[in-house]
Amino acid sequence: LLTVTHLVKNYGKKEVLHDINFTVEKGSVTVLLGPSGSGKSTLIRCLNGLEEFHGGQINFEDQTITPGFKKWQPLRQHIGMVFQSYDLFPNRTVIDNILLGPLKVQKRDKNEALAQARQLLKEVQLSEYENAYPRQLSGGQKQRIAIVRALTLNPDFMLFDEVTASLDPEMVRGVLEVIEGLAARKMTMLVVTHEMNFAKQIADKVLFLENGKIVEESSGHQFFEQPQTQRAQDFLSSMD
Ligand code: ATP
Ligand code: MG
Repeated sequence: LLTVTHLVKNYGKKEVLHDINFTVEKGSVTVLLGPSGSGKSTLIRCLNGLEEFHGGQINFEDQTITPGFKKWQPLRQHIGMVFQSYDLFPNRTVIDNILLGPLKVQKRDKNEALAQARQLLKEVQLSEYENAYPRQLSGGQKQRIAIVRALTLNPDFMLFDEVTASLDPEMVRGVLEVIEGLAARKMTMLVVTHEMNFAKQIADKVLFLENGKIVEESSGHQFFEQPQTQRAQDFLSSMD
């Protein structure tokens, strides 16, 4: 579904991603791990055009994306993203937040999009909040709404960047369960997380990033049972 080849990203004169190469298979879950500042968010943001990159290329479905690529808008409908900070519009209700993209951007039929949104709200157990405003929701509820909003666009690929990092501990589980449900339904995903048990459970593949380089790429099982590099071993020990 996605192949990244020799990707390079600079911030000013500083190269922050160096020669990144990996493939994401359709229907698989890839977990991106690494210390703070290693470039996880930057990499994920390069994959949906929130950051420019400066070398190499990204192949997504039948598109070849090279530095300077401008036509992200249509592609973003196929690549959903959820961040650490919930970016719901505060002055719109839950359902309006969800329907904005399907109606305004995708020009879909209102009843059809609404039916899909309601089905997804039900699946994340938030049906009763359809007409609530984001401020009336807990952090965990807002994150589940942000996920529903991304899913209502029918993406082929989902990016998650530490979606539970700013949640109270009791809210984390519910959000992770939603992502686990997506994995069970074979949604293709790239996930950045600090929740190691969750990562271990869902990862088909692990990419371990350090200082802007992928220093280890293994199956999920292998990474957690027998990490190949000392750096990954140290990282896993530090997460215990
Ligand atoms: P964390 O786990 O803390 O979220 P991360 O792995 O997501 O870290 P990034 O946020 O991708 O790391 O940052 C990678 C590197 O790029 C860091 O050295 C950071 O200082 C630098 N960086 C990130 N954003 C910018 C920016 N807007 N301008 C300049 N440098 C940046
Ligand atoms: Mg980050």
